[in-house]
Amino acid sequence: IGANLADTIERFGDREALVDIPSGRRWTYTEFGQAVEEVALGLMAKGVAKGDRVGIWAINCAEWVLVQYATARIGAIMVNINPASRVHELTFVLRQAGVSVLISSTEHKTSNYRRMVEQVRSECPALRDVVYIGDRTWDGLLRAGADVSRERLTEREARLTCDDPVNIQYTSGTTGFPKGATLSHHNILNNGYSVGETLGYTPQDRVCLPVPFSHCFGMVTGNLGATSHGACIVIPAPAFDPAATLRAVEQERCTSLYGVPTMFIAELGLPDFDSYDLSSLRTGIIAGSTCPVEVLRRAVDEMHMAEVSIFYGMTETSPVSTQTRRDDDLRHRTGTVGRVLPHVEIKVVDPLTGVTVPRGTRGELCTRGYSVMLGYWEEPERTAEVIDSGRWMHTGDLAVMDEGGYVRIVGRINDMIIRGGEKVYPREIEEFLYTHPKIADVQVVGVPDEKYGEEILACVILRDGAKSLTRDELARFCRGRLAHYKVPRYLRLMDAFPMTVSGKVRKVDLRTAGVADAV
Ligand code: ATP
Ligand code: MG
Repeated sequence: IGANLADTIERFGDREALVDIPSGRRWTYTEFGQAVEEVALGLMAKGVAKGDRVGIWAINCAEWVLVQYATARIGAIMVNINPASRVHELTFVLRQAGVSVLISSTEHKTSNYRRMVEQVRSECPALRDVVYIGDRTWDGLLRAGADVSRERLTEREARLTCDDPVNIQYTSGTTGFPKGATLSHHNILNNGYSVGETLGYTPQDRVCLPVPFSHCFGMVTGNLGATSHGACIVIPAPAFDPAATLRAVEQERCTSLYGVPTMFIAELGLPDFDSYDLSSLRTGIIAGSTCPVEVLRRAVDEMHMAEVSIFYGMTETSPVSTQTRRDDDLRHRTGTVGRVLPHVEIKVVDPLTGVTVPRGTRGELCTRGYSVMLGYWEEPERTAEVIDSGRWMHTGDLAVMDEGGYVRIVGRINDMIIRGGEKVYPREIEEFLYTHPKIADVQVVGVPDEKYGEEILACVILRDGAKSLTRDELARFCRGRLAHYKVPRYLRLMDAFPMTVSGKVRKVDLRTAGVADAV
């Protein structure tokens, strides 16, 4: 990553690399390279050795990006912690990864990061230093670095290889406890480069990133995707803010915009949406979860994102495995997650036998290639459960590949329900139940049952105004339209679903809660 950045600086030194709108600061590639080096030297002054874990628990800001490239240059392993995490998750990650130096924000809105860090510090024996961005400890880091010679950094860099770990990213924890995917320079740099290539990035591109850097989406497909092509990173706000995002696009003439579907929904829903000049936009990415057709259509028609792309990926695969391309038609950009990236292999197998299934048949998606992680940090058994002897990563996702190689994600294996020997896919039932006029949101899970092995539980959030829904009403709605074995046996009304910090529903919690309060 350091060598790639040096190459970009040499070729595009005068071009803009980074714009941090909240603080009004901007860097050319030459200036960015110098700023990264100052941080790298500062971390060396703090005694960070090759392979040491440096945690980052911060809102989006320029320093986040500097730390990302600085840790890579000195061979440290950066450990990302989601800014939405709280003491419980923070302690888990700091301890599991053995973080010795933590870079953190001081505070943001209602989050007092400093107080939370001080609260957990005594429980994390490996943690010997904390640097807070924007206060005197940050200045101290830079000052200390001034005493370290450049030669030491050059010597350090000469000892690094592209297969060294550079990053530990924790999975979202949707299906259980988060796992620390350990990723190498080779893994993430190539993935970021490849995504940038698919989007057609050049040094003329300006990439607006309202997505958190703590996730691969931001730091790999965003930051590395941009810098490996000499494009510019634009940070609109410390945390997602729809108006600040569109203002940034307008003001900085951004050509690309990233987000999860809900971010685009919020931007499109702004009362003054029409007043923003978004004509500079050309492309971008909508990812993270399934994108509704209407959102994609509006991004194309009303936000000028004619070439907008959808991808599928997971933390363990750096993250992207499949992506839609510029010339894919709208149908393929809504119904599918595109085709496999160059230099990556995918196959769809029968989860029980491991045999590749025919095109058009459901099975588990497996990925192989440069993008597959080194392994889960200090968890060889869990690594062996997902990466087989042929280096195939078993994603746990259910997918269908069509004749043209386009992939559709249809659910997760763990969520699959086997009721009386019949396979039942929750997403199919959920999509059907969404059409019920009283239902605002629904999650379907399997619960243990003596007679059928598993029974179906529908957890429902009612629409505003709908006061009640009974099991019988639901059954009547399903009759004749859904196979009898797919009709939910239990119904639970809820106000909200349990979520991960990255905003995904934790079905595992819905399952373990059982049917005690179901109707
Ligand atoms: P954990 O592994 O801890 O249970 P997680 O799998 O949600 O959590 P991530 O690595 O952040 O953690 O998310 C990857 C998963 O997100 C994929 O395995 C897939 O289930 C889902 N996903 C990613 N992209 C898409 C997409 N475009 N459409 C539908 N689902 C997607
Ligand atoms: Mg996962």
